[in-house]
Amino acid sequence: MTKTLLLGQTLGFCGNPLTGDWTEAVSYDSAGGVLIDGGRIVATGNGAALQSAHPDAVVTDYGAGLITAGFVDAHMHYPQTGIIASWGKQLIDWLNTYTFPEESRFGDAAYAAEVAGRTLDLALAHGTTTLTSFCTIHPASVDAFFEAAAARNMAVVAGKTCMDRNAPDSLRDTAKSAYDDSKTLLEKWHGSGRATYAITPRFSPTSTPDQLAALGALWAENPDCLMQTHLSEQLPEIAWVQELFPDARDYLDTYEAFGLLGARGLYGHAIHLEPREIARLAELGAAVVHCPTSNTFIGSGLFDLMGLAKASVSVGLATDTGGGSSFSMLRTMAAAYEIGQLRGVALHPAQLMWLATEGSAEALKMGGQIGHLGAGAMADITVLDLQSTPAIAQRAARATDLWDALFPTIMMGDDRAIKDVWVAGAQRQA
Ligand SMILES: [Zn+2]
Repeated sequence: MTKTLLLGQTLGFCGNPLTGDWTEAVSYDSAGGVLIDGGRIVATGNGAALQSAHPDAVVTDYGAGLITAGFVDAHMHYPQTGIIASWGKQLIDWLNTYTFPEESRFGDAAYAAEVAGRTLDLALAHGTTTLTSFCTIHPASVDAFFEAAAARNMAVVAGKTCMDRNAPDSLRDTAKSAYDDSKTLLEKWHGSGRATYAITPRFSPTSTPDQLAALGALWAENPDCLMQTHLSEQLPEIAWVQELFPDARDYLDTYEAFGLLGARGLYGHAIHLEPREIARLAELGAAVVHCPTSNTFIGSGLFDLMGLAKASVSVGLATDTGGGSSFSMLRTMAAAYEIGQLRGVALHPAQLMWLATEGSAEALKMGGQIGHLGAGAMADITVLDLQSTPAIAQRAARATDLWDALFPTIMMGDDRAIKDVWVAGAQRQA
């Protein structure tokens, strides 16, 4: 197979810059190279040295472009692509007004296929090479997403969203059908190509205890699947959970009691956590997913990133589209920075880039495989243009180092900053 060598500035990580000294977690080369063979990265290092060691490699030279791992979005809803940026509601009203009517359309396989393809193409255009998506209650919506991802050879995580109460009739399944449909879908898709199945109760208010128990049993029978849901996003939601589950110690306990808490669990939002919840998440190695544009857009609150990182909770980063207001992980990093500032913490660009790549991959238990610019990882790669608009270029022109050059793109960049994308060693756009 033909070897490919990408030349440019290279940025990768060899440690976690949230929990340690960020300077020791970074691998940066101003004249770096990434050697790809068979869809994987086989070497990184000095570009000229790699070129002379591998004269047969086909070279793409990005000049001053910044080569990084492709972005990994650890929580989003592809069926909500068409309703992104809908005005004026908080969580429960937002679901009832915008989300549920749109999700009702996904029993139509052709519509689901069209939106799935559109969403994945938008993701790639924004430099995101892995999406972790909720689908709808319709099995056709799951097939459509995995088929569209397979056609693009993208590593994705997804599952059938399960709801058997507090949702419109057209969007309710049952405990039994949720179990049966999820089982059929995970047997079909989990481990097929680059697909990973996630058992997906939307959140505890829309599942009866019977449904949560059925999904907990399914996870116990298929422990290598992931499990994704929502946790403690808004205060009225938490009060509602307390009403629905009067015996639960806290929100997390409504999952824990039914076998839905574990290391391969992904808990979106996790803003208003109790000390017991934080301790249990850390103890079990479960991951929470920070969705900053969604948190500000829907008015949910200020995620405690550094507090959770210090408590050894695994944290991924996500757009949460369409509750989130951008498909861009650059804009998502910017929102994480802004929320950090409101909590008195200025996140370093190295920490933001790590969250959008390695942090999300670790949350998905795919560390070293995706979101990683190093030998052995799949060659899912994004190349950033650090001067993509006149406003960014005039700021970057006075930069004194990589971080000073990169930060304006994090704060002001969008899909125009994506110079190129590689998926499993194949170039997506020129
Ligand atoms: Zn969500």
